[in-house]
Amino acid sequence: MTIFSLEGKVALITGGGTGIGFDIAKCMIEAGATVVITGRREQPLQDAVAQLGERAHYFTNDVTDLAGLEPLVEAIEAKLGPVDILVNNAGINMKKPALDVSDEDFGRIINTNLNAVFALTRTCARRMVERQSGSIIMITSMAAYYGIDRVAAYAASKSAVAGMVKVLASEWSGKNVRINAIAPGFIETEMSRTAMNNDPERRDRAMRRTPMGKFGKPEDIGWAAVYLASDAAKYVTGASLPVDGGNSVGF
Ligand code: NDP
Repeated sequence: MTIFSLEGKVALITGGGTGIGFDIAKCMIEAGATVVITGRREQPLQDAVAQLGERAHYFTNDVTDLAGLEPLVEAIEAKLGPVDILVNNAGINMKKPALDVSDEDFGRIINTNLNAVFALTRTCARRMVERQSGSIIMITSMAAYYGIDRVAAYAASKSAVAGMVKVLASEWSGKNVRINAIAPGFIETEMSRTAMNNDPERRDRAMRRTPMGKFGKPEDIGWAAVYLASDAAKYVTGASLPVDGGNSVGF
């Protein structure tokens, strides 16, 4: 179906070497895009590119080094051409009772999941607005929808991103730059394994309120990202799409 095609598009996917980001890259390549994945560790990026094939490239980059984001996008565009699609996927979580969360803990999560997301979005969007073309995708969480215990900083960061999506959509839609969020439910990755590890009670609670009764796969998020980036979603902006087996509406 050509309406879902990303042929000729360049997609930048932060944290694309592992988990959900890797599958977003895989699905976008399958839809015809050239992808650039980033992350702090080089080895997983090298391994990922080897699996993804010749339309995948990597840049080692820490998104919290805000001064490095402009040079990163410049280097990508010099090598591959305009970034048409940005997926702000890189993120970190921390499970701790709120009373034990230090300012340093809180700041670390906010720096990665919020401050860096805004800075990179602004860097890419300046170019997209100039070209009057672009699609930006944020990855939020069920933690932005309802109260999950022991993830105060993470929930704050993801709720802030969900709010930002609406503002940026209202600012940039007239310039043909769309911005949307995907809110994954419980997806099988290293991050969710860590969060659920040694905590069967938490895992059971998550499943009890998921009508489909199972964890999602990273590619479930990947295909949603392909849709939102493609012309099939050309009238969709400012939206948050739960991809969650019904978790956000489960009783
Ligand atoms: P993973 O831990 O598997 O992947 C996170 C990726 O982000 C890694 O590749 C990591 O690479 C990268 N990353 C982390 N910090 C930075 C940084 N400072 N700069 C650049 N890259 C960074 O987690 P998931 O795949 O599960 O999570 C992906 C996204 O999905 C996150 O935003 C997460 O919050 C969200 N999400 C996940 C859910 C789930 O159930 N798994 C549910 C809801 C949301 P490296 O360490 O090499 O830097």
